[in-house]
Amino acid sequence: MPKQLDDPAEVLKKLGLDPEEAIQADQRLSRMRRKSPHICVCGHPVSSHTVDESSKPPSVFCKPSKMNCHCNQVLPVLYAEDNRLFWRKTNSYGNEHALIRGITASMSAGKKVSWLPADHVICYDCERKGRGNLLPALIEFNVYGYPTGKLITDYKMTKFKKSDDDYVQEYLDVLLCRKCLDKRVLGA
Ligand SMILES: [Zn+2]
Ligand SMILES: [Zn+2]
Ligand SMILES: [Zn+2]
Repeated sequence: MPKQLDDPAEVLKKLGLDPEEAIQADQRLSRMRRKSPHICVCGHPVSSHTVDESSKPPSVFCKPSKMNCHCNQVLPVLYAEDNRLFWRKTNSYGNEHALIRGITASMSAGKKVSWLPADHVICYDCERKGRGNLLPALIEFNVYGYPTGKLITDYKMTKFKKSDDDYVQEYLDVLLCRKCLDKRVLGA
């Protein structure tokens, strides 16, 4: 630790920043982050996603906490009263998926959630609409971006790969009806 610690207000002033304005900016940004109540199918707030428009097609990154999420889409499926409870990791499908873990955390915190009445809230396999009757799961893609159909049941964030010149997407979060999920579980 340095011998002498500085007052943060003085540090800001030396940088030519008005501490009052800095506080306002900080609160505005925190509020913005908190305000977006939509949760992506990956189980993390839409606001934790950034879109890089410079690449074609635009690439999406999800960073809900210190970890990098594999998610490369923004697919809002849930409305959450407190989106700060949605930052957990996925290990498998159902209650080991980040989306259900966030709902579980909301339950513990006494916060409400609701499925969004969106057309894309359907079963990935049979495309049946099943609002409130779909379970999140993670499926594997091969390096060319085609689904292999393999259900991920022991996901490790370390599997996340990013090569120098090409963004290789290996996993996709999907919603599945119970019937289609059971089929995939049997095939896993
Ligand atoms: Zn996502
Ligand atoms: Zn995510
Ligand atoms: Zn289905």
